[in-house]
Amino acid sequence: MATRLKSTRLRPARERATRLRGHRERTDRQVRPETLSLLRCPACHGNLDVARRHALGRTGRLCAGILACRACDRRYPVIDWIPRLLPHESLTPAERAELAASPERDEPQTVSEEQLAPDELRRLLETRVRSKLLHPGMPPKLRARAERDVAYRVEHTGEKGKFVRTAEPYLTQRPERILDLGGGQGGTLTAFRQRYRPTTAMLLDLDPDWVEIARWRDPETEVIRADATRAPLADGAIDLLVSTATLEHLPDWRGALAEIVRISREGLLSYGPNGRFPYDFGHLDAPFVTWLRPHAAAHVAHLCHRLRRTGRTLTSIEQELAVTFYIPRSAVVRELRRRGVEVVNVFEEFLGHAVAESYHPRAGGLKRTLARFPWLRTLFAKGLLIAGAEPNVYLYYRRPRVPR
Ligand SMILES: [Zn+2]
Repeated sequence: MATRLKSTRLRPARERATRLRGHRERTDRQVRPETLSLLRCPACHGNLDVARRHALGRTGRLCAGILACRACDRRYPVIDWIPRLLPHESLTPAERAELAASPERDEPQTVSEEQLAPDELRRLLETRVRSKLLHPGMPPKLRARAERDVAYRVEHTGEKGKFVRTAEPYLTQRPERILDLGGGQGGTLTAFRQRYRPTTAMLLDLDPDWVEIARWRDPETEVIRADATRAPLADGAIDLLVSTATLEHLPDWRGALAEIVRISREGLLSYGPNGRFPYDFGHLDAPFVTWLRPHAAAHVAHLCHRLRRTGRTLTSIEQELAVTFYIPRSAVVRELRRRGVEVVNVFEEFLGHAVAESYHPRAGGLKRTLARFPWLRTLFAKGLLIAGAEPNVYLYYRRPRVPR
């Protein structure tokens, strides 16, 4: 039952929220030994050292080089300011080449750390995002959908204040170390960074393109390429963890939750669709697939796409289903509680902030109606929560204090 999710110890702490306002802007973009001290070898959790420097920013920050594990001596490349903390077999050819570069290159060249001008950045993002999402020979309807996705990713990724506003009342302290787990192309982390000015704002993602896009988008953040189920971070390293639209793509989502609890004190988890909600928005755009086994789901989705004449093939649906998991909210709550974590459902709060914001790619009419009639919004939210079937899941979690 939704009401039972509210723990008395997890009530919004409004007085704390006011105290969090008005910290001063930090402009320090030094190398952060601080950051290196948070990172760990993904294989053995040993500490990492800088083994080789190939390029440095003017402030001494590592742009290209190699990190080495003190315990097991495994090596990890850093390219374009991004440590690639993955096993050798998961590295791209460019990443392997950096690892194989000769040690004599340890006379680092100095590279500029300038931020791109806004329209230059916009052009760069558009080119990169378009080449990632559009393919030659795409059917027209799918192309139109992908174009909308490109526009959203280029223009509206900054509109993530709703996540900050949802998390803020529950925060127990001003976060000095913020991590966006599976942060993709960035945006959400920037919203948190701008709000709290932490010493470390870190984004972790596995995708080699998204991490580079994220780094261009916000050079003030630390971006690492790594696997969420083998997070290369020290125990309790993170004060506030945020993860949106990630859990549903992890076959080992339980392993990711274990890592989340290990590395962070508290945070906001959001993913979707909820396994109980009868429609998949955003991935397959089809009904009932969330309730069905993959084989049946693929055929139902394919039928829907044929009726809508989108041109989507069964193979592409099957491929997407292979990396999309419909996890019921109750399963995630159970998994977190099993690990001694307190959890509260913040769907209703999120919905309130989301409908108040100007942009939403799909639910235009419904959103406007819900924004106009708060009582209807409450009714809508409560109904879905009681059924355990809110479309997307929003949870705030907090674990008992542990020594660092
Ligand atoms: Zn190691």
